[in-house]
Amino acid sequence: MDRSGLFAMYNNNVDAFSTAASIYYGLFSMQHRGMDTTGICINQNGQFKYKKEEGMVIDVFDESLLKRMEGHAGIGQVLQCSRGDARDFAQPIVIRYTSGQMAVALSGGLVNTDELRKELELQGAVFQTSDDAEIISVLISRARNRFETIEEAIADIMPRLKGGYSLLVMTPRKIIGVRDPFGMKPLILGKKRNSLYFSSETCIFNELDVEVIREVLPGEIVTINQDGIKSSMSQTSEKKALCSYEYIYHSRPDSVIQGVEVFEAREAMGRILAKEAPADADVIVWVPNSGLASASGYAKAMGLPLEDAFIKNKFHCNKFVQPTEDMVRRGVTMKLAVIKSRVCGKRVVVVDDSMVKGTTGRILVDLLRDAGAKEVHVRVAAPEVKYPCHFGGFDLDQASLISSHVTTEHIKDMIGADSLAFLSVEGLLEACQGTEDTLCMACFTGKYPVE
Ligand code: SF4
Repeated sequence: MDRSGLFAMYNNNVDAFSTAASIYYGLFSMQHRGMDTTGICINQNGQFKYKKEEGMVIDVFDESLLKRMEGHAGIGQVLQCSRGDARDFAQPIVIRYTSGQMAVALSGGLVNTDELRKELELQGAVFQTSDDAEIISVLISRARNRFETIEEAIADIMPRLKGGYSLLVMTPRKIIGVRDPFGMKPLILGKKRNSLYFSSETCIFNELDVEVIREVLPGEIVTINQDGIKSSMSQTSEKKALCSYEYIYHSRPDSVIQGVEVFEAREAMGRILAKEAPADADVIVWVPNSGLASASGYAKAMGLPLEDAFIKNKFHCNKFVQPTEDMVRRGVTMKLAVIKSRVCGKRVVVVDDSMVKGTTGRILVDLLRDAGAKEVHVRVAAPEVKYPCHFGGFDLDQASLISSHVTTEHIKDMIGADSLAFLSVEGLLEACQGTEDTLCMACFTGKYPVE
């Protein structure tokens, strides 16, 4: 299951940006949510024109292509793919069915994919990909014949979709945004003059001068078109479970989720971590890029200077070839270097956003020691990740998660740190201003919102 970012526009204005260009900018600003594939589908007077390919937004689209894709509505997705050939999972999925064309893009995923696929195959469905979005598109198209509207068809199939997702569905006359009943993946509704938007994050709305209307509610089906906004509720659940990793890592720091700015939440994580696990040190350093806010919170709470000790190679990206264990290590050292004068002879606390496999932790400690740090204390601004995510947060099995089978003390020795501490589950809830009834904490606690 993969991580992704969604963006959609129903263009009711003659805007400064065209529809395709707006979606291009929207996806570009959410590149941090996925760098493996990019796809945009545009509605050109009822005919869908689309392109989806392996690569980042600027690799897949250029100005002349965007001009050729002019239209009044469209949806797009960037995807971080952890399975097989990324091209097989590029979205939007575009299908033809009895009511015309339909394009579907998904963030998050289902846990009952195999069951649904088997059932549909027994009924004669033939799949081109092994993607959850295609299964959803087939389910909607089949249900559509039994209902007057596509919204009713979506509401009908939602109880069958077990998982955490936000979904965009485009038909020739509308775009529909949907969130699962637990609200695990964010989806925001925006407006600029008469044009309407959906986005996985608010950050791009600031850049495009789009006003945030509100978040799509868990279990809600929201339609945007030339008539404006229409909403209906499908399934609801008392318990909500927004992915807490959105605050820790996935979202951009200037995005706001459930009224809390991500940077502010991360800074609070660092502040609380300093209270829970102070360290005798001279200096705090942060790990680019997502470690900055939590390190800043930690430094402020400790009354210690925050140093910019790591230099990040800005040309490094996920495509950096890392075929062997040694090259994985080299990949990080090619990505990060230390400014010696900032840490040499000092007791250093390095604050990182999270620790999943532990590989990066070992490298950070080595880099700091090589640069002459007298002591290296590692502080992780998230609880220990002990359980796998089944909802597109990260795609690792339990054995790969270092905290699932190794104690904190042992990890400290493995990574060569002088001390190691993680933020508590309670500390994370406090920083995100949530509770176990509003946030998914399953990778830390093992309590999954969906069976
Ligand atoms: S298990 Fe973790 S990463 Fe997955 S949705 Fe829940 S909080 Fe997010």
